Amino acid sequence: VEKFDMNKIACITGASSGIGLATSKALADLGFHLILCGRRRERLEELQQSISLPSYILTFDVRNWTEVEQAFQSLPIEWKNIDVLVNNAGNAHGLAPIQDGALEDWDAMIHGNVNGLLYVSKMVIPEMIRREQGHIINMSSIAGKQTYANGNVYCASKAAVEALSQGMRIDLNPFNIKVSNIAPGAVNTEFSAVRFKGDLPRAASVYQGFTPLEASDIASLIAYMVACPAHVNLADVTILPSAQA
Ligand code: NDP
Repeated sequence: VEKFDMNKIACITGASSGIGLATSKALADLGFHLILCGRRRERLEELQQSISLPSYILTFDVRNWTEVEQAFQSLPIEWKNIDVLVNNAGNAHGLAPIQDGALEDWDAMIHGNVNGLLYVSKMVIPEMIRREQGHIINMSSIAGKQTYANGNVYCASKAAVEALSQGMRIDLNPFNIKVSNIAPGAVNTEFSAVRFKGDLPRAASVYQGFTPLEASDIASLIAYMVACPAHVNLADVTILPSAQA
């Protein structure tokens, strides 16, 4: 791990909870100035107050191209040169057997996990190409590599993230832009509550009998990834709780 320049800018989507929140704190500890993205502004303001280095809040729904475009266009000039983009926002909104799947849940997962990643990347990549530097970290999931019962559409959306990470790596390689893919196993966040639509006892029961990863475990990995020397890219990392096969 190498020391790097201060005053670099990292943009984290889904910074209002879980992995994105922990990652924001870890990157602030490394000296990054942060663009914090999410829909829940009050959560982002709370996070902003806990960080001593400069940060900028962008609220938008990743599924809505107009909102994404307007948000990034509204960035003051001094915030436009994004060095690290963490495409972390995502959801598993209501997992069910394919025959019982609801259109609204499918749309939430495909638009949130795939289109959202594309829309944000589309706004950030041009400046990275112009400056011939940058690092994009996409949050996939073990679900993108192994389909499990009721996972159908969520797993498909994360398999798409895996393919996009590979495609982005190939296309952006000539511009000196690193692309990394992270595939976590179970992480103890609000994610499970979203998955079971607010049924907290059911969400908690997911972790019974084994110790899941914490958001800070993924944040530590991301901090390590961005601090690697220029010639090293941790291109694709699967990170599981030890108890998960
Ligand atoms: P959380 O539910 O805690 O965080 C999800 C984050 O994404 C929130 O900050 C939320 O912000 C944001 N988000 C969700 N939908 C949208 C949207 N439409 N527009 C803008 N922001 C959105 O879960 P995690 O931290 O666990 O999840 C982060 C990523 O990690 C996801 O991509 C998830 O698929 C992935 N992952 C999680 C695993 C787990 O077990 N927890 C395992 C493997 C991968 P807000 O609500 O403020 O908009």
